[in-house]
Amino acid sequence: MDRPIGPGGTVGIVGGGQLGRMLSFEAHRLGYRVAVLTGGAKDTPGGRVADVEVAAAYDDDLAVQRFVDLSDVITWEFENVEVRLLAELASQSGVPVRPSRSVITAAQDRGRERRALIAAGAPVAAFREVATATELDRAVADLGLPVIVKRMRFGYDGRGQVRLATADEAAVCGVVEVLGRERLLVEEVVPFDAEISVVVARGINGETAHHGVMENVHVNRILDTTVTPPMSVPPRVAGAAVDLATAIVRHLDLVGMLCVEMFVIGDSLIVNEIAPRPHNSGHCTIEAASTSQFGQHIRAICGLPLGEGSCRPAAMVQLLGDLWNDLSGCQPAWSEAMSDPGVHVHLYGKEEVRPGRKMGHITCTDTTVERALQRALAARRRLRRQS
Ligand code: AMP
Repeated sequence: MDRPIGPGGTVGIVGGGQLGRMLSFEAHRLGYRVAVLTGGAKDTPGGRVADVEVAAAYDDDLAVQRFVDLSDVITWEFENVEVRLLAELASQSGVPVRPSRSVITAAQDRGRERRALIAAGAPVAAFREVATATELDRAVADLGLPVIVKRMRFGYDGRGQVRLATADEAAVCGVVEVLGRERLLVEEVVPFDAEISVVVARGINGETAHHGVMENVHVNRILDTTVTPPMSVPPRVAGAAVDLATAIVRHLDLVGMLCVEMFVIGDSLIVNEIAPRPHNSGHCTIEAASTSQFGQHIRAICGLPLGEGSCRPAAMVQLLGDLWNDLSGCQPAWSEAMSDPGVHVHLYGKEEVRPGRKMGHITCTDTTVERALQRALAARRRLRRQS
């Protein structure tokens, strides 16, 4: 069995975003050092709290080798990167990459991801992979309208996807034009009752630990709120969702954290997506669980035993750049939001405000999930108060 990487070692994180930032906080709490490879950007949310920020492209041989040399284990906070060079240099230097290259490659491509999920026994929506306009027409004829068309690679937060209600819309939405350049995934529209996710950690010895089920609401395809336990999912279905996520993390032989996003239709589950890292829908675990998703991920990749993941009732609400824009550049009313002492504000240190950009989140825990959600939503509303 692999030896644990003890505190004092360095965790190398690929990606400089907020997930890396929150991973760094946990790594530091356990006495690890952190190196971040940003892909080129300087002064990133993750890099600002890491011990070393390597602000270089993922195909910059010298910089990637430096990042590998700094690291005792390499992990990912963002999987949509070119993995080949990094994986090869890490392998030559004997630095473990967790989750592994094959897991990351599968998660980068919706077609491969679907095939991996099917092999794991997971139910998925009916879909077709298409590369030409003729194949798109055939897929639409097979699946029936409406359909959702998704970029095969590098789509996230609903970016790179369109819903087609009529065949003509394919031309209007530029789908056919995009088709000339890349493969697409076409899938049926799932009439879901709820969207949920399960974040589950798996250690190097195969041990698993989950945080229960998160119920998620997306607005404009971006996660807006998460609550746990779910408010509209029967316990039996929630139990099945945890079992399914655990089966998938085992099938993938993944070490680290896996988020499995699912649709609930009645008593049935359909897996939409997986993310091989901590996830936005698991942010509430920072306050709700004794070991958060970030703590579990660090423990898992370093070969330490996993912690207790179960959650008390909690709610997370997202803070997007739109809030700052709506206030015409004024700062949100932080003191007003924090006037409730149970409100936890997390900000990611991003200076550039853009609509749809995740700037931070608020979490509340309480005796019931309904109360936690009300408090978190009320705190977000208070941010708009002008003094
Ligand atoms: P994704 O980028 O696949 O995570 O999709 C973002 C969001 O779009 C999901 O969380 C759903 O709200 C919605 N969505 C994606 N695929 C489907 C589908 N096949 N049917 C209905 N809604 C979908």
